[in-house]
Amino acid sequence: MKCRHCKEELREKVLDLGVMPPSNAYLSKEDLEKPEPKYPLRLLVCTNCWLVQTEDFVGRSDLFTSEYAYFSSTSSSWLKHAADYCKAIVPQLDLGPQSLVVEIASNDGYLLKNFLSAGIPCLGIEPTASTAAAATALGIPVVQEFFGEKLGQTLAVQGKQADLIIGNNVFAHVPDINDFAKGLKALLKPGGVVTLEFPHLMQLLEHCQFDTVYHEHFSYLSLHTTCCIFENVGLRVWHVEEVPTHGGSLRIYGCHKDDPRKTDPSIRELQEKENKRGLQNLIVYQEFQKRAEKIKQDLHGFLAKQKKEGKKVLGYGAAAKGNTLLNFADVKTDLLPAVYDAAPSKQHKFMPGSKIPIRPPAEMRKESPDCILILPWNIAQEIRRQNLDIEKKGARFVTAIPEIRIL
Ligand SMILES: [Zn+2]
Repeated sequence: MKCRHCKEELREKVLDLGVMPPSNAYLSKEDLEKPEPKYPLRLLVCTNCWLVQTEDFVGRSDLFTSEYAYFSSTSSSWLKHAADYCKAIVPQLDLGPQSLVVEIASNDGYLLKNFLSAGIPCLGIEPTASTAAAATALGIPVVQEFFGEKLGQTLAVQGKQADLIIGNNVFAHVPDINDFAKGLKALLKPGGVVTLEFPHLMQLLEHCQFDTVYHEHFSYLSLHTTCCIFENVGLRVWHVEEVPTHGGSLRIYGCHKDDPRKTDPSIRELQEKENKRGLQNLIVYQEFQKRAEKIKQDLHGFLAKQKKEGKKVLGYGAAAKGNTLLNFADVKTDLLPAVYDAAPSKQHKFMPGSKIPIRPPAEMRKESPDCILILPWNIAQEIRRQNLDIEKKGARFVTAIPEIRIL
């Protein structure tokens, strides 16, 4: 396989998680009887541009179907993150009724609704029918397509170039990252700004967040590699911020290469930090598998011990990362009988691979658990706050990444 960005032959393996179903392929009761499509899940690193990437096995039509269950608005901390972003960026870029804000992967309108209520014209791009319909119902115009160079050019021809293009948790989820970047170039108005947020490779490596690896998550990005991808299409990253979402993400600010904005010192500072942490040195990648194996054994051992002692452990948060973790650690219903989730779109379905049933949180209260394993550790405190009554009754909350922790 060749690098998705620079086309160099990929030789270095970072992680092999075995064979797994796509992490967002939640199962209905009828699906349980059918064979489940599974694909190898491996990460490779390019020693030329240092893009970490999944090995190719799955076509994206398999991954993002109309059944795709993730609605951004179910996380209150993510909603606040979106509202705060809008409040800050509107005066910073002097956006108003004459501007156009385009969000790629606009999901259910969790972010654009803030621009809408500020009186700023906006447009969402979202291929998934169910979430696009939710955004449309809020009054947000949505183009229901995948984004790339072709759509960027089409919108530009229609006079819909953007003053601000936003992409949250989409840049790392596209199979053709160069085509996506070309789309940004075409869609961006002269003088406009692109902001993208994606999990930072440096955090993945430092905190052994191997559960954020899944087939739909094609790229694992450093600032260094992102700058290369932007430069390749005539864009430039001029500012970067580290934000706490998803276990540590980057928010990068891009513009056209010849934009009068100067590249500020945040870029050089973070690139130096990445260098110091060894992101352009094979050693950190070569030791990653061993660290992931240790977490797998620790989790399996912890759950088996609880069971032996007659304690009831339940899961909370049917997130994609939970599926990677449970499937890699070979956790099934004997060790974790149910996972509870507040999203109605996931309730009464089953976790892919492990086939653990997903139930509404209200039912968890009837079970009197001793221990609750929080799968989306990035929102562990939010989940804990929502379930204080259970903790008061003596249940303990636990997370497994980067190690077993009783909260
Ligand atoms: Zn490369």
